[in-house]
Amino acid sequence: MTSPSPRQNVMRPEKDHFLAAENPFEEMMSRFDDAAKRLNLEPGLYKILRMPEKQIIVSIPVQRENGEVEVYTGYRVIYNTSRGPAKGGIRFDMRVTLDEVKALAAWMTWKCAVVNLPFGGSKGGVICDPASMSNSEVERLTRRYTSAIIETLGPDSDVPAPDVNTNERVMAWVMDTYSMHKRHTVTAVVTGKPVEMGGSLGRREATGRGCMFVTREALRKLKMPLKGARVAVQGFGNVGSVAADLMSKEGMTVIAVSDKSGGVYNPTGLDLADIFKHVRGGKLLNSYGNAQQISNEDLLTLDCEVLVPAALENVITIDNAASIKARIICEGANGPTTAAADKILDRNGVFVIPDILANAGGVTVSYFEWVQDRGGYFWDEETVNNRLERIMVRSFEEVTTMAEKHGVDNRIGAYMLAIDRVAAVHRLRGMYA
Ligand code: NAD
Repeated sequence: MTSPSPRQNVMRPEKDHFLAAENPFEEMMSRFDDAAKRLNLEPGLYKILRMPEKQIIVSIPVQRENGEVEVYTGYRVIYNTSRGPAKGGIRFDMRVTLDEVKALAAWMTWKCAVVNLPFGGSKGGVICDPASMSNSEVERLTRRYTSAIIETLGPDSDVPAPDVNTNERVMAWVMDTYSMHKRHTVTAVVTGKPVEMGGSLGRREATGRGCMFVTREALRKLKMPLKGARVAVQGFGNVGSVAADLMSKEGMTVIAVSDKSGGVYNPTGLDLADIFKHVRGGKLLNSYGNAQQISNEDLLTLDCEVLVPAALENVITIDNAASIKARIICEGANGPTTAAADKILDRNGVFVIPDILANAGGVTVSYFEWVQDRGGYFWDEETVNNRLERIMVRSFEEVTTMAEKHGVDNRIGAYMLAIDRVAAVHRLRGMYA
């Protein structure tokens, strides 16, 4: 959100990645099909669960700083609400497409069901480039988008959260716009808000903390010592930096971390406090001098016990899966492993904690935020963290039990658990005709 450059955001890069060969969303639907088949899902239910309930397309006129009017396209997709209100982020990005939003909304449906939250799934997006817009333009865009989709929003129907290029500032505008229309303050309409206006303590750290909990459970399950377990983390943003920090506080040894500029490595353990000092000053890791430099590609194949991909999708592919030496992969990022790579990892005995479980700590504390807003009673951080731990540990147990029972990998186990839960509610509710 910098100074305006009016014409920059009317152009749109070519994008058809929903159908691309190694596309994370297409990959996700292929895993859905696999899990649905193994569950012997009734054909009618299969048809219902493969389609979103509602797709909204809106045009959003915004006056730019130079006086010109630009019209942006926005989407909101409600995938499934059988288990409760839809839950899903809003992204502002030039690469947004309706197909992508649909797939991400499906993803949220399964993720909420894996950790057994009383939510369905949704997602929203606006095709725009916020980096080329002023703050006021982003605010006007946010407010007009919110009012355009206002019928779907609400604590009981559809609850957004931050996603790519949106943040707690944007959520505050969504909440304010919604509240102005309703003529009273409705904090529970969004999560990921600033704590001062109904956000939850512990939300910022929740995804990385969840990664730590499930990694700890995986080490325990595989009877591997936690103390000194060597961890490599790709991505040193919200998820990766918190996961690295908390894993190290648990006694694991973080040997490598990276950001978009590259990585740093020390086989006997990095000085994380020193690295945090470096990045807090706004510097990237390629200028950090107190450890060996390493590329993002090499980080993935380091000799270690735990690998945490926490940056991008599709980084573990058929090209490098066979070279991965980690015994455990904890998927902090969404979609870091391709379906073809999964097979190689499975063959090599790598224990994958799949994204829809590993990074579900974020949506779990979003759920806590919604509960706190609705109750008007706020929990201390210890309560938030303890309840998050309980949910992550239980969900890890349920996913691995499902996987073992059906002789599948943990990812298919997680999808089976999720689809089974959503399908069970559909059967109980029956079909309104
Ligand atoms: P972030 O923007 O805070 O951090 C991303 C990190 O990845 C940064 O350190 C960045 O430098 C690094 N990065 C970018 N390009 C890279 C590249 N080419 N190679 C290596 N590193 C690169 O984002 P985040 O919130 O930490 O999210 C990371 C991933 O986790 C995303 O896939 C996101 O969808 C997923 N996720 C995040 C949350 C959450 O609560 N933040 C919840 C669930 C899933």
